[in-house]
Amino acid sequence: MSDIILGGSCLCGTVRYELTEAPFWAHSCHCTRCRKITGSPFAANAFVPLEALRYVEGEEHIRSYRVPKAERFTHTFCTVCGSTLPSPNPSKSRVVIPMGSLDDNPGLSPKAHIWVNSKAAWDVIADDLPQHPEALDFQPQEP
Ligand SMILES: [Zn+2]
Ligand SMILES: [Zn+2]
Repeated sequence: MSDIILGGSCLCGTVRYELTEAPFWAHSCHCTRCRKITGSPFAANAFVPLEALRYVEGEEHIRSYRVPKAERFTHTFCTVCGSTLPSPNPSKSRVVIPMGSLDDNPGLSPKAHIWVNSKAAWDVIADDLPQHPEALDFQPQEP
């Protein structure tokens, strides 16, 4: 239907991917795990349906680390440069897109902060977006 193609890649450029649909949602996650994998106060994550992600180059250089105690928290990354990459979540039929890996403008900004109860003491949220203490249940918007 749409001709949207958004490109993304890792730091070294070995892995390149495309999204064939614009993200339907984005948020900033302040949880401990997201802080670890980004080295930042929060992860800006966008979401697309599973079928909207395709790899263009370097798929064989992708590895995943699943946190043993976690239900599904998985860090997907480039084995050459370590950059965080899109992480498919088949149980929810969607892919988490680390927004910093996008090379094109996805056309939306994070709409909420989540896991604010877990945020770092030095993390100051300086905008007026809704703040959720823990996870947020969101669904793709009907077209
Ligand atoms: Zn890389
Ligand atoms: Zn998180």
